[in-house]
Amino acid sequence: MKTRLFTPGPVEIPPRILRALSQVPPHHRTDAFRAALQRVSQALREVHQTEGQVLLLGASGTGAMEAAVVNLLAPGARALAVVGGKFGERWANLLEAYGVPHAVLPVEWGSAVDPEAVARHLDQDAGVTTVFATQSETSTGTLNDVEALAKVVRARDRRLVVDAVTGVGVHPLPQDAWGVDVVVCGSQKGLMIPPGIATVSLAPWALAAVEGEKLPRFYFDLRRALKTAPAGETPWTPPVSLVLALEEALTMILREEGLANVHARHRRLAHATRAGARSLGFELFSSSPSHAVTALLPPEGVRAADVIRRLREVHGMVVAGGQDQLKGRIFRIGHMGAYDLADIHAVLGALDEIVAHFGRPAGADPVRAASEAWAAA
Ligand SMILES: *Cc1c(COP(=O)(O)O)cnc(C)c1O
Repeated sequence: MKTRLFTPGPVEIPPRILRALSQVPPHHRTDAFRAALQRVSQALREVHQTEGQVLLLGASGTGAMEAAVVNLLAPGARALAVVGGKFGERWANLLEAYGVPHAVLPVEWGSAVDPEAVARHLDQDAGVTTVFATQSETSTGTLNDVEALAKVVRARDRRLVVDAVTGVGVHPLPQDAWGVDVVVCGSQKGLMIPPGIATVSLAPWALAAVEGEKLPRFYFDLRRALKTAPAGETPWTPPVSLVLALEEALTMILREEGLANVHARHRRLAHATRAGARSLGFELFSSSPSHAVTALLPPEGVRAADVIRRLREVHGMVVAGGQDQLKGRIFRIGHMGAYDLADIHAVLGALDEIVAHFGRPAGADPVRAASEAWAAA
């Protein structure tokens, strides 16, 4: 049986990216590799729409989050973490691990943060220097309004750091135009390559923010990375094969499909998924759904665990369950990266087969509902 990944990362990897990965890796201290790294850095700046610098780290996405924390915060500096799911919690856990004095702004899981709540918090908590937030909260399938967040944070002269691991290559986030100081990302989601590269994008005005006395840092000391980046070098051995794969992925995104079209495709696929699932009696978990992942509550009498198991066992489709308080309640369909309407039709067809066991709503036509939503989005 074919296996099809509909997980919110790692995602399906297009064959041409697998081909790029299979090359004999060049030595990293060669002109050919330096040139490749420079091209990738430039392409990443285009993806982030920044005139600043995008630094590439050998790590999973969490490494970029940790790099942001240790390079931006001076000892004793106070922070605010916006927490509406597992990845928001990760910011709080990182701040905790480094002993950073911080406040948490709790957001109901499945809801977007209200930018006014952030504004109110900052007005009352004058010591906060830096706000840590999430663009697409993968654990709940929720999109936050980064543009609005940036507006309230910058109006109060604080710094904003955004985890856009399931945002980049899915949702627009023009960093300089929106005024986001720092954006972190990982490679195994919208960028369509295996895990192992993490990026930290510093807006031009934020480049100097990593200087001076900060929390303990060594491997993730971005001052070193900033120094070596213009020459196409990294302070440590980079994940060479992944850099070549990333170049291929960025060619697909920027030079072939085009960034705006990539964003539009994800919007259409998300709308198609939602409409098709709803027609079968599933409900959206999030009131502000992400275009990267759709979190669904099964209809009455259907258990999320049974949907997940039957998708895997009968249809070869891998989706994700809920975590923590959402365990057993929801399941999540990832559709970021190299997905198209035919993929969405396939997963909806499988859901239709599963729901048929429990009594599908009369007249349900998920494939048509998806096509119509896709065309209208
Ligand atoms: C996947 C993901 C991360 C990074 O997780 P890693 O396992 O460290 O790659 C961070 N934030 C969000 C929103 C994610 O979806």
